[in-house]
Amino acid sequence: MNNFEYIKQNIAEINKRITLACEKSVRRAEEIKLLLVTKTVSPDKISYAIGCGYPLIGENKVQEVRDKYAALEKIPHETHFIGHLQTNKIKDLLRYNVSLIQSLDRIDLAQKLQSRLETDNRSMNVLVQVNTSLEESKFGIGPEKALGFVKEVSKLKNIKVKGLMTIGKLTDNEDEVRACFRLLKNLKNEIVAEGIEGVCMDELSMGMSGDLEIAVEEGATMIRVGSAIFGERQY
Ligand SMILES: *Cc1c(COP(=O)(O)O)cnc(C)c1O
Repeated sequence: MNNFEYIKQNIAEINKRITLACEKSVRRAEEIKLLLVTKTVSPDKISYAIGCGYPLIGENKVQEVRDKYAALEKIPHETHFIGHLQTNKIKDLLRYNVSLIQSLDRIDLAQKLQSRLETDNRSMNVLVQVNTSLEESKFGIGPEKALGFVKEVSKLKNIKVKGLMTIGKLTDNEDEVRACFRLLKNLKNEIVAEGIEGVCMDELSMGMSGDLEIAVEEGATMIRVGSAIFGERQY
């Protein structure tokens, strides 16, 4: 017997928070997918969480995707890549059945990804990561460049753009966090209005353990939650 019961309880807490945020913003909880951020989390805990009915997980390092692959292979689930992707790791990442890369943020990365996908004769779903907080330390394309970037990526035929992703500003100032999420939503609307061929903007991935309510209120379709479910990460 393991004692991973706390994981189930934490997921229930997250669902309560989603529900309350939905009530405030007149949304339905079914509109919001919960992605479990499993970085640094062991495969036994991940399997348990998936078994609670949450088959969508996110990893931010290619090495962790690789290390956990065999242990999770037989458990039906879906893996998203949510971290900074180095071009020299693309080939390796594509070995591991990742269904969506949420962190596409540079044209050289997009071109190298396209080239690899062509070689493998397959396609890949992506979200474009936008640096809405304008913090130097964050990855993501600048908001003013997002539309042009999506247009460029739309020409790469093996890459399917499905929406946008952002990390809200890390601050206690709720208005500043909200401004990040609102900016992402506005960018989405701008891109939709352009009607770019082959580009879908259905997914808005925003909100984490500390700010998911704000993200839900601002229109998130997917929230990415790690520490509030699995506990503080130990590196
Ligand atoms: C770690 C991480 C999260 C989850 O953060 P928590 O605060 O632990 O919920 C979400 N998104 C990305 C891109 C991350 O790297």
